[in-house]
Amino acid sequence: MNRHRAPWVRGVALALAATLLSACANAPQRSPLAAWSPSPNHDARQAQVIVLHHTQMDSFDEALATLKSANDHGRVSAHYLIAEDGRIVQLVDERARAWHAGVGRWRGMGDLNDASIGIELDNDGSEPFAEAQIDALIRLLDDLCTRLAIPRTAVIAHADLAPTRKADPSAQFPWARLANAGFGEWPRADAPPAPEGFDPVLALALLGYDTTDLAASLAAFRRRFRGVDSRPPISTPAAGAVGIPPVVFDDEDRRLLFDLQQQRLGR
Ligand SMILES: [Zn+2]
Repeated sequence: MNRHRAPWVRGVALALAATLLSACANAPQRSPLAAWSPSPNHDARQAQVIVLHHTQMDSFDEALATLKSANDHGRVSAHYLIAEDGRIVQLVDERARAWHAGVGRWRGMGDLNDASIGIELDNDGSEPFAEAQIDALIRLLDDLCTRLAIPRTAVIAHADLAPTRKADPSAQFPWARLANAGFGEWPRADAPPAPEGFDPVLALALLGYDTTDLAASLAAFRRRFRGVDSRPPISTPAAGAVGIPPVVFDDEDRRLLFDLQQQRLGR
């Protein structure tokens, strides 16, 4: 008998193997110690927020290599990397935790890698973001928010969740353009001044910022909503005062925060 199989037999075997492999990719992860008695009463753990970064590197290839390798400073990754020309590369399954957020807090959530999709933008941190790159980002946000049922407002900066450690994406990032496309929270242009008695610290916390280091949180807020990199001034303590001098919110901080708070409260 001929020991070599007919080509069509080999073809069928290969197709069968491919089917089995793709079935494996979707198979539930189970413990070998337990009998499998599946319940229909569950749902997928969902990402609730999308975190944007700039790579702070000189090239797409350098960033891609870093996001896939063991680095001197530890492994990092993101679900997506977007090139300046609009090319989108996916590095991590959306159901898996990518390692992009690090230590931080947002809206009371303490492990943002658990709760988020991470998107890196190829940008050195000082240059403007490319048009084609932002076009691609908006298309990807539309796709992610639609498929994963993530609220369109839940798109934030890495610096928003880690204001003491991070400053990305830079003040050049076009948040207004994203807001025009329907993503992220954004103050209304004609928002009135904040009224007397308005508490800007509570509004920052309501938005989601961890206000433990208030100066750092306000700096992140200003970068995101005012496009400026500035540490807010600390008021000069009165003679004989003790403790940490208070952070000064200016009228524009207060106006924007009041409007964002009103929107969050559905007003
Ligand atoms: Zn980052």
